[in-house]
Amino acid sequence: MSDAPEPPREKEEDSNLCDREEEPSEDSSEEDEASGETEMDFLRSLFSRTLGLGSGEKVLDELTLDGVARYILSGKCKNIICMVGAGISTSAGIPDFRSPGTGLYANLQKYSLPYPEAIFQIDYFKKHPEPFFALAKELYPGQFKPTICHYFIRMLKDKGLLRRCYSQNIDTLERVAGLEEDDLVEAHGTFYTSHCVSFLCRKEYNLDWMKARIFSDEVPKCEKCSSLVKPDIVFFGENLPAKFFTSTTTDFPRCDLLIIMGTSLQVQPFASLVNKVSKNTPRLLINMEKTGQSDALMGMLGFGGGMDFDSEKAYRDVAYISTCDEGCMALAEFLGWKAELEDLVKREHALIDSKDKQDKAKLANQTVKAEEKTATETGNSDKLE
Ligand SMILES: [Zn+2]
Repeated sequence: MSDAPEPPREKEEDSNLCDREEEPSEDSSEEDEASGETEMDFLRSLFSRTLGLGSGEKVLDELTLDGVARYILSGKCKNIICMVGAGISTSAGIPDFRSPGTGLYANLQKYSLPYPEAIFQIDYFKKHPEPFFALAKELYPGQFKPTICHYFIRMLKDKGLLRRCYSQNIDTLERVAGLEEDDLVEAHGTFYTSHCVSFLCRKEYNLDWMKARIFSDEVPKCEKCSSLVKPDIVFFGENLPAKFFTSTTTDFPRCDLLIIMGTSLQVQPFASLVNKVSKNTPRLLINMEKTGQSDALMGMLGFGGGMDFDSEKAYRDVAYISTCDEGCMALAEFLGWKAELEDLVKREHALIDSKDKQDKAKLANQTVKAEEKTATETGNSDKLE
């Protein structure tokens, strides 16, 4: 049996800079748990396919945005999970690292890295943290202003419909939009908090502290033990946050509607989450292009067939091709929430603008005072001389 088929593997995705692969590590009880879970899912999926259990009940009356809206309003849809990626933050001016020409690739050359991925590799970072912090400074957003899409997710929360938001983004905009710790799984970590890298210390620092270090061009060092301080984003060679594994296990089987926005579903293990909801759970994709579609071979082998928007057998997947903001606004209109969403965005943006103004005024004031102080001191020293 030399030509026995190889066990199916996860499809090799383009090895992009932000892809995070699960790497084997010594202390990985969560990963063991997670792979056990995957095996269970596989068996469950295999049995349900072979025995025709729980497959293909049509929940949406129509595979359109309108149909999704009617389902949400029906009262049967109580647990919505959002899966989001860089596309929901592009209208906030946050560069999508994956798009060529938007910064990262062009910018890396000057850091004389051994190879581009090194800048996000934990081992390299611990020895040479400077390039990472220089890049962080360069790409630091001028303003943290969540988008219509972020506030649409916030509305789902306010209406008691959001089970959880799974984000690949590290920009903290979900939090700025009003999602709380418990509403959120930041699968690739976050800039919101930072920690001392010393296992004995692990002192936490907030975003303001980190921002001050980044903009003063100093490598952030722990105030307690002088070790390096690293933003809590997941580097290559690091495990995903434990919460990712624990929450997916409880959330996805209970999901009534999966809304996937602004992600090309190419980063594992995030991408495979779309197959963790039940066979009947409708899945809505709002994105600039269709993605996550089934790979025929993988489908035949029983490995979660991916999304099916267009085939004759399509029964639950809806693709709405647009920007995330437009898609959310359109969905809000079908739901009768449009005015409410517009008000929320206007109100929250006004708050952010006024806070920005205050901060700038405060900063200007401090600068003036510092200049006055310098002037006085210089004046005094003049007199003394
Ligand atoms: Zn420390």
